[in-house]
Amino acid sequence: MSKQQDFYSHLAQELQGIRDAGLYKGERIIATPQGAHIRTVAPDGTTRDVLNLCANNYLGLSSHPDVVAAAHEALRTHGYGLSSVRFICGTQDLHKTLEARLSRFLGTEDTILYAAAFDANGGLFEPLLGEQDAVISDELNHASIIDGIRLCKAKRYRYKHNDMADLERCLQQAASDGARFTLVFTDGVFSMDGTIARLDTMRALCDTYGALLGIDECHASGFVGATGRGTHEYRGVFGKIDIITGTLGKALGGASGGFTSARREVVELLRQRSRPYLFSNTVAPSIVGASIAVLDLLEGSTALRDKLADNTAWFRGAIRAAGFDIKDGEHPIVPIMVHDAVAAQKLAARLLELGIYVVGFFFPVVPKGQARIRVQISAVHERADLEQAVAAFTQAGRELGLLKAEGGRA
Ligand SMILES: *Cc1c(COP(=O)(O)O)cnc(C)c1O
Repeated sequence: MSKQQDFYSHLAQELQGIRDAGLYKGERIIATPQGAHIRTVAPDGTTRDVLNLCANNYLGLSSHPDVVAAAHEALRTHGYGLSSVRFICGTQDLHKTLEARLSRFLGTEDTILYAAAFDANGGLFEPLLGEQDAVISDELNHASIIDGIRLCKAKRYRYKHNDMADLERCLQQAASDGARFTLVFTDGVFSMDGTIARLDTMRALCDTYGALLGIDECHASGFVGATGRGTHEYRGVFGKIDIITGTLGKALGGASGGFTSARREVVELLRQRSRPYLFSNTVAPSIVGASIAVLDLLEGSTALRDKLADNTAWFRGAIRAAGFDIKDGEHPIVPIMVHDAVAAQKLAARLLELGIYVVGFFFPVVPKGQARIRVQISAVHERADLEQAVAAFTQAGRELGLLKAEGGRA
């Protein structure tokens, strides 16, 4: 009994420790569908209408009428759920259609759906690699990649973020350690900085050392590259990536679900051995039907990704002209560097008062001294929204003394 009580006291202490360290993550309640403008509800019930700059809703598809209609239609024709994993009685025609459509969109042979990209990454490495093999990973890879690699027996190597010389060092080391097969795995786009992996260089290096190359396209599929196929398109290596994982929960609709897309043999083996696939329920028909509609939209027109690119270029220019320090790049993830953690929190709080919803990130999510506001631009933002955001940033930044040369437009 007292040991049981001790357990709960122990948890309470852990929680207090998280609060004391200033790392406690609260959750803001939203009372509307996801979109450019949302309504938040405070614990005391007061509501606030805000401009949303922190969703992964890059193409604005989370509440797009065609996507919602396709979800309704699949719900009507294919029911609410399958009550089964895929290999027992959980595969509908819709699932096979979506897998084929994703393969075509991404330039691969076959695709396997998962409940989430976290599961796709979690169930990727263990079935494919054994203890004679090597997996080489960027130090800033997503948590789900790190966990997936932990579950496999391959020897692990880690290179400095986006550092091609250090990647080559790892490739040489794996070769001299006698690796049978070597897989290099990276985020296509890194979520904290919007950095776009150098896949052209990586492909060449992997070819030199006979290594396979895999990428996680969660922050890229649907909008990075001239037709939105992803980082491989952007870097000129479309059709030349061995394994692509991704999510249906960001640009490609925003509900949930993930996938791994690769050569036929890879996908076939994953269907046999990947544990999150074998032992977790099939993706709901409404999500699958809506995801097919998303691919119809994106293959039919680049208007949404083009608008997103225009919005991003405009916002990056305007926020820099206002005197903010941002990380260079082209991605709709725009890290507005505040450096100091307390200042980042103050800026986010003041912006909320001004009707702009953004989130501050600080250590340990990003390195010490690199606290920031991460803005995420969407195709659903209108120019007036972005102007409102820049005006509010400018006002709050001035109040808090965060702007470089006041009015400087260098
Ligand atoms: C969001 C994200 C995931 C997880 O995606 P879910 O489908 O929500 O599980 C995995 N990898 C990266 C790089 C991500 O950004």
